[in-house]
Formats: sequence, structure tokens, C-alpha cells
Amino acid sequence: MAMAALTHPNPFHECLEVYGLLRAESNIITSFSIRRRSSHCHGRFVRVAELRSAKSLLLCCWSKEHNSNNNRVDKTWKVASFKGCAAMQQSEAFDSHEEKAEYADCEDLCTSPMGLCDTVVGVLGGGQLGRMLCQAASPMGIKVAILDPAKDCPASAIAYQHVVGSFRDMNAVRDFAKGCGVLTVEIEHVNVETLDSLEREGGDVQPKPFTIRIIQDKYLQKVHFSQHSVPLSDFMQIDNVESLEKASHLFGFPLMIKSRCLAYDGRGNAVARCQGDLMAAVNALGGFERGLYAEKWAPFVKELAVMVARGRDSRLHSFPVVETIQRENICHLVEAPAQVSVEVATRAVRIAEQAVGSLDGAGVFGVELFLLVDGQVLLNEVAPRPHNSGHYSIEACITSQFEQHLRAVLGLPLGETSMKVPAAVMYNVLGEDEGTAGFSAAQKILRRAVSIPGASVHWYEKPDIRKHRKMGHITVVGSTMEVARARMNEILSFSGQITSICSKAETHIKAYQSAVSDHVEKQEESPLIGIIMGSDSDLPVMKAAAEVLDSFGVSYEVTVVSAHRTPLRMVDYAQKAQQRGIKVIIAGAGGAAHLPGMVAALTPLPVIGVPVKASALDGVDSLLSIVQMPKGVPVAVVAIQNATNAGLLALRMLGATDRGILEKIAAYQEDLRKMVTEKAEKLESVGWRQYLNL
Ligand code: ADP
Ligand code: MG
Repeated sequence: MAMAALTHPNPFHECLEVYGLLRAESNIITSFSIRRRSSHCHGRFVRVAELRSAKSLLLCCWSKEHNSNNNRVDKTWKVASFKGCAAMQQSEAFDSHEEKAEYADCEDLCTSPMGLCDTVVGVLGGGQLGRMLCQAASPMGIKVAILDPAKDCPASAIAYQHVVGSFRDMNAVRDFAKGCGVLTVEIEHVNVETLDSLEREGGDVQPKPFTIRIIQDKYLQKVHFSQHSVPLSDFMQIDNVESLEKASHLFGFPLMIKSRCLAYDGRGNAVARCQGDLMAAVNALGGFERGLYAEKWAPFVKELAVMVARGRDSRLHSFPVVETIQRENICHLVEAPAQVSVEVATRAVRIAEQAVGSLDGAGVFGVELFLLVDGQVLLNEVAPRPHNSGHYSIEACITSQFEQHLRAVLGLPLGETSMKVPAAVMYNVLGEDEGTAGFSAAQKILRRAVSIPGASVHWYEKPDIRKHRKMGHITVVGSTMEVARARMNEILSFSGQITSICSKAETHIKAYQSAVSDHVEKQEESPLIGIIMGSDSDLPVMKAAAEVLDSFGVSYEVTVVSAHRTPLRMVDYAQKAQQRGIKVIIAGAGGAAHLPGMVAALTPLPVIGVPVKASALDGVDSLLSIVQMPKGVPVAVVAIQNATNAGLLALRMLGATDRGILEKIAAYQEDLRKMVTEKAEKLESVGWRQYLNL
């Protein structure tokens, strides 16, 4: 290899390992990359030893530099090229690469990469998750190749490339990997040994095979998380009748028995309700040989889920907490955001991030959780990929879980995950029947859904339908959870789904039905603004807030909550307001006006105080009591007796995220302007005496 001074920094500076990038079709080494102490280049890396078979060698190096605008730019240089024997000799030379080598003829290749990223993302599996990954990739021009044995699998029609083969087969996975820059999964039941060896050879697998291996085996997963102090239900491995009985003594009944591996959609679970059920449960799962473990029953009040994204830099970024409602162990409905207190949501995210933080590699992870009656949150399980509980994010979040997964595995910046709509409900369209009957039942519900505002239909194009098989899903968004539920209810009740669902989901959907029975009632059931006051004697002042909200058609509730006479009622009201869907609290108080400040201390919602004139000090006492809040606990205060302004301020707060309300406020301001202008014109034209009828 020719030696000469470089016109750019030595590409081997701090070099740790040298890799070549192999172009799959031609077996030509098209590029070469290095791993450095401070950074590494992305691409599909092959071990230097593999270069020996190369017929020609074009060596390049990349560097990431900052331009004058401080933006990061990738630069590529051709280092050298070799043909025939020379290529082989050079590849031998790389086995003992020297850090301080210098290379000649460094021509700036400036490969002008096309679009956002030209790395091919290889996905093991081409089911609905693979399909939605391809859909998310399309607008960004990212190429997603899939490996799936079924020719007509859901992702097949839209993937950049579909390689027909099994993701459990070593050779199929190896061959597939050759054409991909990074490998990821849409199902965890893949051949992890091959992923391990690909990674050892320098392949880029995200999340790491270590993570996939742990998650594949639910028992190992539990052991791993318990070693990392993640709160879980008690569990133990069961290999025989003795250990089964021991588990039942330790954990009691009902007892959850689970298959360690290849379990999904509840297919690996069996419940023993009493001693006599134990062996039947074990046999239903295929016997002890299948590999089983027992889990203490989690008496949950809700099931929650959090999608956690993990970047290549290991930073975590979570989506909102959602509630999942299962039907016969399969996710049936998802509500986003979960209607839980801020404390519970914060706890759920903390535990989800603790679990994902203990794993390795980039991607999104679906974390399933149990919420117990005392507010405790336990981890159920983690999926190392996009997850059913995150489908809502396609319509409801700024970045969907699928886009986020692609961003994560490609090392692109993670996207914003907050919701762009106030509420969403997702419903899984499961096979109700086999064959044509099943397809026409599904079609009925999809057709109904497309006529409902805010509803989006996803159909996975699976060629066959079976009972309980996930065939598609529907997401409905709305301005409040009640609106989203009511819309979903319209879809489900129309299509007769209500008659065929299990009791828990039935209760849920019945709640949906009652929510829509009367529009006015519904408005009263889901107030957005709480108007509270220390005493009914404040009502003549506070009614002005209610009147202004009436004129804007915004729902509210009015009640008396006294900080001094009913302190516990005040605590209860303030703590539950956010969970009930209240967005702003208007609190009127007179004299020693502690109500607004105390409520603000107990809720994360904005509180607007209305100083009410008491008999002695003209309301100045109320004003000062409300306004003098300590740092950290803000209360907005309007003028003494001016509940109208409190109503208008509350509306402006809602208007920040509700365009309809914002437009009405603008119209209200326009009316005010017109009214004042008309008065001014009249005064100017008739003069002040006539104006005052003097
Ligand atoms: P899958 O992999 O099929 O999703 P899970 O372990 O998540 O299996 O179990 C499916 C469902 O079974 C859960 O969503 C939950 O409703 C119920 N379940 C699982 N484990 C327990 C448990 N320990 N106690 C009570 N219910 C459980
Ligand atoms: Mg599960």
C-alpha cells in the first residue's frame, strides 16, 4: 500500500478495530470503516479476516465533523483501491493494522448520501409490527428489509425488500444480514445464537442479542429484572410436581403458570384457581418439559403500559403511560393517556425506565405493568420492539413508536413523544370467526369506523383469519377521553362487538355507552373546569365564571369546598381533579382566603383565585391572602369580585391547546372591540351631554 501524507486527519487515529463493508451482491469490499475510541462509523461491519476473500478492495474512511454552522457532517474519503491478489494481500495487512499508518491518494469521495440515511434496516419478522415499521420508514425514505417465511406476510407488500426465509434459521438470518446495515426485530422469538455470532463478527444488531436472549425466556427476564430491583410479582421456576406444589403454597391461588418461551397473546399462560387445577394448567401448557414457571397472582386494578425508547447513546425517552384492557389475555383496548394520577403515571414511567435501563441496545421497548389498589406498580413483562400498546402513537403522538424505533436503531436523534391530541382509544380488531364469516365481521367494523370522526383504520392484510388473531386495529382520537370513548363506542356497538366480549371489557364498553347516551349529560359528566368556592355566599360572585363558560359552551362543575370547614374534602377534590379530566380550577374565597393556595399545593392543575369581598375589608384581605403565595406554588389571581375574568382566563388556558376555543376567544375580543368602538362613535357624534341624556 502506498504511503504518503494525508490531506485530512489520520483516519486511524485512536483506531481500535478495522472493518470492511461488504456489498452483498458482488462480494466486493466497497468501503472500509474504523472503530475509534471516541466514535464509530455505522454501516455493516465485517471482520477483517473476511476481507481475505475479496477480489477487489476500495478503502474509504468516514469522519464526522462540524461545519461552520456547527452542524455535524459526514465526510467520506477514498483511501486506496486494490484489485485481485493485491486486494487479498492488503486485507492480510489489515490483520495487523498499525495505528499510525498513513495513506496516499486520498480523494474526497463526497459520496453525497441520498436522503436522510441510506443504511438498510433489516427486520427479523414481517408481521403487523414489521408492516408498520415499513410504513413509518416510507415518508423518511428509509429502507426497511424484512425476513419472514410467509410470502404474503403483512409487511411484504410495502417492505423495501422481502427475503422469504425463517428468522429462526441460522443460514437465512446470516444471508439476510449481508444486505443490511443494521439488524433489528419485530418479534423476539428469533435465532438469537446467530445474532450473537453476527454481533461478535462486528455486525450491528439493535437491541443487543443479550437483551433479546433475556426477553425471549420470560423466566430469565424475571430473574434479570429482580436482580436489578425492578418491582415484580413473586415467581419461581417449576420443573416437577414438588416445585409446583411449593409455588402454590408460597403464592396461593389463583396461581398464574406461564411458559418460559414462545409465549405471546396469552398463549403461554394458564391459571390454576385451586389445588385441583394445578396439573390441568401444567398440561394445558404442554407439561413441565415445555419449561414453565409460576407467578404470584397480581390483583391489579388496571394494567398500564409505557413505550420506552432507548437511543444508541443509551438515553431513554418515554411515551405517555397508557391503560391496556385485555380480553382473554389479549390486548383488547388501549386508552391514552391512562386515566391515573400524576403520581401513578410518574411511578409507572420510573419503573419502565428502570427496566429498560437494565437492558442493552437501541430501539423501543414495550413495558407492561400492573397497577395495584394501593398505587403500587409492578412490572409484568418487556418486549424489545414496538408493541401493541403503542399503536395509538401513530395518530396520537408527535413521533410514532415505529418512527422512534427506526430513529433509535439508526442512531438518529429520538423524536418528541408527547401526545398531539388530548385523548386516544385503540381497539384491536381480532378474528371473531374463521374464513369468510370472520372477514365479513371485521369488514363491518372497519366500514363503521371510517364513518366516525377521528377514527383511523389499520388492516394488516393477513391472508387468513382465525379466532383471536390480530387482524387490524382502529384508533380513535378526541378532544377528551369521553369524546374518544364515545366515538369508539359508536363503532363497537354498531358492529355488534359488545355482545361477544368478555366481562371486563364489557363493563368498560358499557361505560362508553352510558357516556354517549345523552350529550348534555355527558358534558356534565366530564367537566373541563372546576369552579369551587369556600361558601355558598360566594355564589352570586362566582356565577359570573359559570355564565362566561356557558356562553362558550365549555363544560364545568360548580361546588362548595371550604379550606377551613371541610379540609379533607378540599384535599380529596384537589387530588382527584386532574384524574377526573378537569383542566383548570377556579377557586373563589373571601377573608382569610386559603382555598386557592391550598388547592394549588395539592394539584398539578392551574388554579385561578377570585378574591371575594367579605364584609369587613372590601376584599383587599382576600386579594392579599390569595396573591401572596410562596415560591413554587403559583396561583393566578384576578381582580376582586371579577369571576368573569377568571372564566375567561380559564378559557384562554384551554385555548392554548384547543383551536375551537381559541377562535371563540378571538371572536369575543372582536365583539368587545366593536362594542367599545360603537360607543366611542356615538359619543363623538352626539356629544357627551346627549350621550348621558342630560
Ligand atoms: P403475553 O406474553 O401473552 O402478553 P403476559 O405474561 O403479559 O403474557 O400475560 C397476559 C395477561 O395475563 C396479562 O396482560 C394479564 O392480564 C394477565 N396476567 C399475566 N400475569 C399475571 C399475574 N401474575 N397476575 C394476574 N394476571 C396476570
Ligand atoms: Mg403481555
